[in-house]
Amino acid sequence: MDYPNYIKSDAWRRNPTRLKALSDAEGRCRLCHSVAPLEVHHSTYDHLGYEHENDLVALCGACHREVTSFLRARRYSVVIPKRADVLPLRDGRVLASDPTAGGY
Ligand SMILES: [Zn+2]
Repeated sequence: MDYPNYIKSDAWRRNPTRLKALSDAEGRCRLCHSVAPLEVHHSTYDHLGYEHENDLVALCGACHREVTSFLRARRYSVVIPKRADVLPLRDGRVLASDPTAGGY
C-alpha cells in the first residue's frame, strides 16, 4: 500500500483502529497530555491498511513531529559513514581545533 495516498484516503479517515486510538486518548496527547488537535502516529508500518491497536498512538502535532524526527534520526544514526562522507583535515572547510581546550 502506498503510504502518502493511504494517509489522504477515506479508508484511513474511517479506519476503526485509528478512530479508537483517537477516542481512547480522550482529546489528550498520549505523550505530553496537552489538549490539542490530535494526529495518529504509526509506530510500525507493518500492518498498513489493517493496523493493529498497538500500531497507532494519538499525539498532538508537535509531539508527532518530534517523535517522527527522533525515530528517523535514530534509524540513520547506525549508518557507518563512507569514506566519501568524511572531509579530509587538509580541507580548508574543516577547523583543526580542540573544542574542549577551554575558553569557556
Ligand atoms: Zn503532545
